[in-house]
Amino acid sequence: TPRVFSGIQPSGALHLGNYLGAIRRFAAMQDKGMETIYCMVDLHAITVWQDPADLAQSTRTLCAGYIAAGVDPEKSILINQSQVPEHAELAWVMSCVARMGWMKRMTQFKDKAGKNAEKASLGLFVYPALMAADILVYHATHVPVGEDQKQHVELTRDIAAKFNHDYGVDFFPLPDPVIEGTATRVMSLRDGSKKMSKSDPSDASRINLMDDADTIAQKIRKARTDFDALPSEAAGLEGRAEARNLVNIYAALSDRTLDETLGEVGGLQFSEFKPKLAELAVAQLAPISDEMRRLLADPAEIDRILAAGARRARDITGPILGRAYEIIGMIRS
Ligand code: ATP
Ligand code: MG
Repeated sequence: TPRVFSGIQPSGALHLGNYLGAIRRFAAMQDKGMETIYCMVDLHAITVWQDPADLAQSTRTLCAGYIAAGVDPEKSILINQSQVPEHAELAWVMSCVARMGWMKRMTQFKDKAGKNAEKASLGLFVYPALMAADILVYHATHVPVGEDQKQHVELTRDIAAKFNHDYGVDFFPLPDPVIEGTATRVMSLRDGSKKMSKSDPSDASRINLMDDADTIAQKIRKARTDFDALPSEAAGLEGRAEARNLVNIYAALSDRTLDETLGEVGGLQFSEFKPKLAELAVAQLAPISDEMRRLLADPAEIDRILAAGARRARDITGPILGRAYEIIGMIRS
């Protein structure tokens, strides 16, 4: 039976890319009746130093974001990674299965470590082994992610296949990345060649789920563009990364294709299109941020939701980790 797993790092403010590329789709898969497990990957977040008070707060805010965007903690299992210790335990096994050379090919490490890779944490380097464990410890079959995580899910398949091969078993299913829709790679508002990210130092590069209406309108007004009117067909966006990104966002928010959207907004100047985009973004995001604020007023309730999620998760992860250890030859007495 299909089982869905995905995660988001509590490493800063949730943004429109996380919403369109991840959370909104997580809720949709849950509503299709699939078995869904969604995670706040706090162990991943500390691959880069996090202020302890901020980390706890970001984890609760992320939990509120999931729920406000439609993830139901009764229907889905909602957890923070560190409260389900089998993730970290299986990560050790997976880091023994994976090869150094595989990790070295990962573009996220190169992007995040920057020029001085020697100064990056060891955790940032082995991040994909933990991500593989996150997925495999549930025997998950489907992993909804944005375009940027495709390489890590493919690596997860390689690690699972090598484990199965090395131990002569057919134990870990190879998970499929699920990368669908118009918004699998929302770009920065300041640079059409970079993806929108929580960790971008420029707050103007992203629309945060918790931004107020004025801030959203201002960020869109200041978003970088060229000077031409919008084309009437998608082909006309070729070579216009910033224009394409804004139209893509408009299309995703209104649940239409790029061509349908350009049928409406083709011919407009940015001075006309941007206010329309801001209005749509505010209309869609305001109910979510209102609900997040309401949920965050009761942090103890969020902590209870995470505790309950961890109990349900461990009913799945305990036996799978136990079986993996037996396969390897660990004594379980
Ligand atoms: P960080 O900068 O800390 O890595 P992030 O913005 O990349 O933060 P993650 O927590 O790493 O967010 O990713 C959570 C999910 O959101 C992943 O499925 C990822 O693919 C997706 N995602 C992240 N950024 C975008 C984006 N710009 N467009 C679409 N999906 C995105
Ligand atoms: Mg990321």
